[in-house]
Amino acid sequence: MLVDISNVLDKDYFEDELNLVFNDTIFDLEYDIKIKYPIKINLSITKSLNNILFKLKCEIKYEAICFRCSEPYSDSFCVTSEGNIVYRKIDEKFEENSLVIKDKSVFLDEFLYQEIVSSIPMRLLCKEDCKGLCKRCGINLNYKNCECDKQSYDLRFEKLKDLTFD
Ligand SMILES: [Zn+2]
Ligand SMILES: [Zn+2]
Repeated sequence: MLVDISNVLDKDYFEDELNLVFNDTIFDLEYDIKIKYPIKINLSITKSLNNILFKLKCEIKYEAICFRCSEPYSDSFCVTSEGNIVYRKIDEKFEENSLVIKDKSVFLDEFLYQEIVSSIPMRLLCKEDCKGLCKRCGINLNYKNCECDKQSYDLRFEKLKDLTFD
């Protein structure tokens, strides 16, 4: 998405917040989550004589499959980032968090993509204390309890009974 910032560039000092709606589903994430669109982005821009700073905030709603119980679930995470808006990148390494001005606009997609990727939760769980599936019978332990654990306990106990101590 191109964001026209000509009104920012025309002034020596500028401070404003833009509320953008990102409808494009261009992100082909190589992750097991499906992002829900549109994404609402809050972009605040502050321009002084020396630099243009931006702050980006958005909430990413997504659907995924729980790593433990294999059930689909929906959740969200927040992306917050800030950086400089520059006319050109001088050094790629030190200007990771910068947006480059082209024809009085900045292109958000690539930056947003990187920020989303680095904010994806490490563990995709339907809930923090998801009990997962029973390794024996496959039952979803969030909804039901099975007897598997108890049985294996009984079995061990049975074996103990057979032991004889001379
Ligand atoms: Zn789960
Ligand atoms: Zn079981």
